[in-house]
Amino acid sequence: MLSNPKLIPEVQFMAQVEQDSGIAVSACYQCKKCTNGCPVTFAMDLYPDQVIRLVQIGQQKAVLNCSTIWVCSACETCTTRCPNEVDVAGIMDYLKEQAIKSGIDIPQPRTYAFHRVFLEDIGRRGRVFEGGLLPRYMFQSGEIWRKLKDRELKDDLELAYHLFRKGRLALTPQGIRARAAIKKILANSTG
Ligand code: SF4
Ligand code: SF4
Repeated sequence: MLSNPKLIPEVQFMAQVEQDSGIAVSACYQCKKCTNGCPVTFAMDLYPDQVIRLVQIGQQKAVLNCSTIWVCSACETCTTRCPNEVDVAGIMDYLKEQAIKSGIDIPQPRTYAFHRVFLEDIGRRGRVFEGGLLPRYMFQSGEIWRKLKDRELKDDLELAYHLFRKGRLALTPQGIRARAAIKKILANSTG
């Protein structure tokens, strides 16, 4: 595992990524099938095939600082479409981990805040409780202040009430039985 992602020389970067992730980035021949199937390229600053290419040529700084790895919704369409079985979605996850470890300013702080509160919920109960997750996300990301300033909070509250009336928003959290197993998985993946 990279102890300090900032120290990897360009010529070693791809080999290090392949060793850590077990994903053969070198197999990519830039056909762009991954990018052509990706549903969120409109919001990306680099296309998925470009992220892979930048890894191949050792551009660690560029890939760790790009928004794309945070915009990626982990739908795995790219991985499924790749003719060379390059797990592009897995590389996005790997790069997110390395970006956090390197201590850089995450270019998508709200997305990062959402990841954090989502995983906290999973760690706590084994499943998400939207009624608690959404307020925590609003405060941790700072969105609450922006929405108050832009007078958007009322729309959110109306939507929440609408969902509650339709039975789509629970007021009390529910856990799963295998909470200990989930905690163990999370501890292993973050350790
Ligand atoms: S689909 Fe696979 S081979 Fe084609 S550009 Fe994407 S990662 Fe590379
Ligand atoms: S996993 Fe990410 S990069 Fe791949 S297609 Fe889905 S959103 Fe795009």
